[in-house]
Amino acid sequence: MIMSKAKLKKWGAALFLAALYFFLLMVFYVNIDQDMGEGYYLPLIAPVLLCLVLIQWASGKFLLSIFMLPNLLTGLLWCMTFPLLYEWTYKSPWYLSKICYDFIVGTAMIVFLTSVEVLIMRFGRIKIASAVMTVLSLLFMAVPLVQIAYYSTVLHCLSPASLMALYLTNYKESVNYLQASFGYWGLAVILAVTFLVLYLFYKFHEAFGKSIAKQAKSLSKVIAALALSVAALMVGAYHYLPQTSMAELWRDVTDYVEKTKEYEKHHEKRLATLDIDINSALPALMKKSHTVIMVIGESASRSYMHVFNPDIPYENTPWMEKCRANGEIFLYNNVYSSWTQTVPSLQRALTEESQYNGKDFLDSCSIIDVANKAGYETWWFSNQGRYGEYDSIVTMIAKGADHTYWSDDSYLFSDKYDMILMDELKKVDPNKNNFVVLHIMGSHIYYNNRYPDEFGRWKTEDGSGMATALASYANSILYTDYFLERVFNYSKEHLNLASMIYFSDHGENLLISHNPDVFSFDMVRVPMMIYLSSDYRQMFPQKSRMLKYRQGRYFTNDMMYDTIAGILFAKSSRYDSGQDLSSPDYKFTRDTLVTMMGEHPLTEDPDAKPELVK
Ligand SMILES: [Zn+2]
Repeated sequence: MIMSKAKLKKWGAALFLAALYFFLLMVFYVNIDQDMGEGYYLPLIAPVLLCLVLIQWASGKFLLSIFMLPNLLTGLLWCMTFPLLYEWTYKSPWYLSKICYDFIVGTAMIVFLTSVEVLIMRFGRIKIASAVMTVLSLLFMAVPLVQIAYYSTVLHCLSPASLMALYLTNYKESVNYLQASFGYWGLAVILAVTFLVLYLFYKFHEAFGKSIAKQAKSLSKVIAALALSVAALMVGAYHYLPQTSMAELWRDVTDYVEKTKEYEKHHEKRLATLDIDINSALPALMKKSHTVIMVIGESASRSYMHVFNPDIPYENTPWMEKCRANGEIFLYNNVYSSWTQTVPSLQRALTEESQYNGKDFLDSCSIIDVANKAGYETWWFSNQGRYGEYDSIVTMIAKGADHTYWSDDSYLFSDKYDMILMDELKKVDPNKNNFVVLHIMGSHIYYNNRYPDEFGRWKTEDGSGMATALASYANSILYTDYFLERVFNYSKEHLNLASMIYFSDHGENLLISHNPDVFSFDMVRVPMMIYLSSDYRQMFPQKSRMLKYRQGRYFTNDMMYDTIAGILFAKSSRYDSGQDLSSPDYKFTRDTLVTMMGEHPLTEDPDAKPELVK
């Protein structure tokens, strides 16, 4: 069979238009600095061109023809909206994969809508079919349109915090919000434009239907349209849509709301059973108003901190070394985290739940609850994200504090340096008894984003690995050491610092970060430091001696809750002295401790030192 010249020309034109579509979108992404990278777009070329050529053949319409306009616009809106608004808002690249997923989902929409249109127009009820198609377009466009509407009111793309607000709003509030943002006339214009667009869409679909009716009936085209619609639905809606930025954002928000409801439902009940005797807790015992500070580090591994491991060639902990030399702080050489990721680890470090006691998180009081009940004014200052998938449980614990602050309510990770928390610390009232938590970004990847230029003491070669190299990591530790020094000096001078505790959520492996699937022990070797003021040491010599002698003991950070409760003398039926490093009852040794929720006993650590049991 030889293809006629006219047919060949048509196929050629269809292929050209498909390629043009692909090329122009790639140019668009590169142009707005949201390039998806060749690793993502190269494998897409063949399947995307094939589908776009086939759908033009099955519909008998060219991709850029007027008939295709509603479907094309709908898909393009998906392809372009999020990347563009993200770029305008943050001016920094988003994940390559997420850009790619938006492109796939938008393109699949074009293929799906057009193939469905080919199929339903065959039934001849063109007016009904056109109305159905218009409604479908509107449904598909709803998500990008909401993003655009939101952006046009505040010039910021939807973020976890704003989507949360949107999610929690009711009908009346949203009408008020729109009215306040656009005014009645503005709203009238928007409504008029929307109806006009829908009317035009309807007309275009009608024209599409009439021309389909005129075509000769072709079974192969119907089969192709059917196959394409199923394929586009499976690939676009089923596989990729749940992975797009907007779908993940939505999931984060709804998960968060669900968990919060559950946790908060139990909060009163938990608190009611937290029977701390306020008269025997530290605020009552110390008499003078004072402050206790807990700094939660991020991805700090003691394997790469000079004060814990003098073998590394970077003197990145000068302050801690000075304080250890003059006996001001205690440093614990054998501390491990219970997991390699922030939330599972902190969920246990900050609450009763531990690897050893089988308690349920929803029935566990937090260290914030304990501090509140012991008579402290509580403060939580965080340089981490608030609503991301990985932060929600930590946020719920934090929200128990009297005062909370998050440096950034936007995406995933803060790009601000930890020193920003010093401004917040200055708001703490020196005339009160305060329990302050500082949750820092520490050494989270990418390490070279964690410190200002003047802390770039050790240089790495530019190029691949620069952001994750040991030198960058060492610089981030150096900056944390300086941060701790600033917090310490300020609080000693202004807040009558009684105790300061620093530990990290988990460690880090400099080649593979902190992925539990490829576990190594540097991911769980964490630093821990405790300072006790001279007043504290004088008043509580036994506890102070205990904490001093315990520097060589083995410990896992899921027992921080009991240890801090011990330092605060906040005993209750929700306190276990066997998990309190400051108590004579502390019952664990290297032989009985585990990490990774029991998967690895600490005796497996190849670099472990003998335990000094005191
Ligand atoms: Zn972490």
